[in-house]
Amino acid sequence: MADYIMAADLGGSRIRLILSNHEAVNLADEIVPLVDGMTVDDVNAETVKAAKTLMDSKGLSASDVMGATIGSAGVPDQEEKILTESPNVPKSTDGIIAVIPALIKAFGWKYAYVNNDCSTAAECAKRFGHKRQEIKPGDPYASKPYAYRFANRPGDDTEEDYFVVMYWTISSGTNIGIKIGDLLYKGEFGTIPEFGHQFHVEKDPFENDMVCGDGAVGHLEPVISGGGIAKIMRNAVKSGGISSGSLYDKIVNEKKDQKLPVVLFDTLEDENAKKIVDFLSLNLARVLGAIIVCYGPGKIEIGGGVMKSFEHVLVPAVKMLDENVNNTFYLQRGKTSLPDICVAKDYGNDYVWRGAIAGFLAELT
Ligand SMILES: [Zn+2]
Repeated sequence: MADYIMAADLGGSRIRLILSNHEAVNLADEIVPLVDGMTVDDVNAETVKAAKTLMDSKGLSASDVMGATIGSAGVPDQEEKILTESPNVPKSTDGIIAVIPALIKAFGWKYAYVNNDCSTAAECAKRFGHKRQEIKPGDPYASKPYAYRFANRPGDDTEEDYFVVMYWTISSGTNIGIKIGDLLYKGEFGTIPEFGHQFHVEKDPFENDMVCGDGAVGHLEPVISGGGIAKIMRNAVKSGGISSGSLYDKIVNEKKDQKLPVVLFDTLEDENAKKIVDFLSLNLARVLGAIIVCYGPGKIEIGGGVMKSFEHVLVPAVKMLDENVNNTFYLQRGKTSLPDICVAKDYGNDYVWRGAIAGFLAELT
């Protein structure tokens, strides 16, 4: 078995290509910038060139590398080993990422793996994440102070690892990855979960409709994603729901929607900010409750850009669950198993490609 694997991580406006070993150690990496006007073939050609540069830099030949693997937002086509509907590529590529088939063809590799970023992150949490006994603040995969263990957790703590691991990303969109034992759950056609696109609630705290990126009213995504939070804030100003105060001033002066979630958490003394944060906490608790009663995970890892300041809603949400203050998320103590919950560190930088390595290796065994 060759010692090396070529991993790819797609985000922002670049592909990051990483030459890795089986332990997901970054030996060298290269950035392929993605610019408007590039075709699928252009992206493939640049990526093949970067892979060659990486192997040359370590004096390796193609036969030293087992194959290629990628994790990215988008819908995986498991037959073609491509990703479709990716929000992370220039419009000129029509949302398609086909670098994996291009790499294995160019270098004669046998093995290829492709999956969405949540599923690879679940693989990462399972294979390279912490063991059951090691959840504590400061853990390399959990950042202080979010690693959380339920006070009255009934699970068997003598087990060494988790059987059911969930990864939940809350970013510009939202989705989960589900790992059950050695199985990554991906539905009949390899395209599931689409967790953000289930019906959840129609109105925000200011009685405005919550409209998803796909146009539907009431999906989960517009409730808790970064894009959704920004829309709640903008719509509140537009409808007159927020018409004065420090949050109002900050919203009207902030041009970039991506910054609005940060603005929200910086303005917690404002009553309207508090109203939105309470709404987010309640919905986060409801969804965590739904995940727990549906899947019974041993561990839930939460990641994504919005999580950087999400402790303001995650900690109250976990408290609501733990204290059973509301029947909406009643858990049968002693019967419903309560998971460990932690926030993945460096989600954007390393979690996805490491997970792509983990998924790649899991498919081989
Ligand atoms: Zn939707």
